[in-house]
Amino acid sequence: MNYKIAVVPGDGIGPEVIEQALRVLDKIGDTYNHTFEYMKVLAGGAAIDTTGGCLPQETIDICKSSDAVLLGAVGGWKWDTLPGDERPERALLGLRKELGLFANLRPAILFEDLAQACPLKPEIISGGLDLVVVRELTGGIYFGEKGLKETDLGPAAYDVELYSEEEVRRIAVVAFDMAMKRGKKVTSVDKANVLESSRLWRRVVAEVSKDYPEVELNNLYVDNTAMQMVLNPKQFDVIVTSNIFGDILSDEASQITGSIGMLPSASLAKGNFGMYEPVHGSAPDIAGQNKANPMATILSAAMMLRYTFGLSKEADAIEKAVKDVLAAGYRTPDLMANGGKEIGTKEAGDLIVDFIA
Ligand code: NAD
Repeated sequence: MNYKIAVVPGDGIGPEVIEQALRVLDKIGDTYNHTFEYMKVLAGGAAIDTTGGCLPQETIDICKSSDAVLLGAVGGWKWDTLPGDERPERALLGLRKELGLFANLRPAILFEDLAQACPLKPEIISGGLDLVVVRELTGGIYFGEKGLKETDLGPAAYDVELYSEEEVRRIAVVAFDMAMKRGKKVTSVDKANVLESSRLWRRVVAEVSKDYPEVELNNLYVDNTAMQMVLNPKQFDVIVTSNIFGDILSDEASQITGSIGMLPSASLAKGNFGMYEPVHGSAPDIAGQNKANPMATILSAAMMLRYTFGLSKEADAIEKAVKDVLAAGYRTPDLMANGGKEIGTKEAGDLIVDFIA
């Protein structure tokens, strides 16, 4: 098969980690007989320097005409003094909006060989962890009506949490589809004991669940979920939740897995289209020094194969190669706390390519 991928290297370590992810994809292409065609486009600081704006129309057009988007990271010290709406990071919001990316997926996988990086007790994480937070990305309180007003108590402010049935339905479908490809368990997180919007959320998720009789559905309040995440995270497979609750819970989930250099993410639109990127930023402090861990970006590319292209075997091969490199004791500097054989960005790419048999 032939797949068209819009590639946004971005700024800082973005181009370095993207380079390694493309080498890994090329190896997958050779091994499994696929062609990946890359269209490199500008966004962020690199786009500001070249075109004057952080998200050129050409970038949007090429992303829209591709099968998926793979992004490194944007931003850096050079552009820190620009006004908020002209900064490189605005490109991310623009891409989300233009591409209709309404579902954010953040897996939290604890690799056995990095277990020491997990802040939880060994007995809580024994056997590893593998969960994914599915966060609604374009609705809820972050996009609801907001404002300032005078009240009897003096000046006040408000932000409205509003969800339509359709918004809840489409994110629930993403979560249930994902559960079908994983452990067949969905935990829907809300605050239905207090919020009307959560009661609608819970009702619609229950309706969607009827189409997935094989998937077990549990409902949890967000406060209880935050506790359960550190008490017994192994109970979770797919967590689906609103924009604000997902923002908080996905950060909590990611921290139980250790280094930021290991965390991939995906943002999905209708019809399997998606933008895939590491959770980390452009890390200007280590840019250009062959110190960045490319694994989060490489694992993001694996998510792209799995969720947009439906290539599970190929995605498994990448994830296994990453595990094998760690099991063989190789560590980029961010993972060196517990010893190991230190490698750089390029060597990590070389090893992962080699381990894909
Ligand atoms: P950051 O994630 O770039 O860096 C935080 C720390 O983690 C730094 O010490 C960095 O060296 C380290 N780090 C990050 N990625 C790493 C990797 N792959 N390997 C090894 N170490 C890694 O966050 P920050 O410093 O807050 O932000 C730097 C710039 O990135 C800012 O301009 C910010 O706005 C931008 N940013 C972009 C994105 C994005 O593009 N999605 C996300 C977050 C921040």
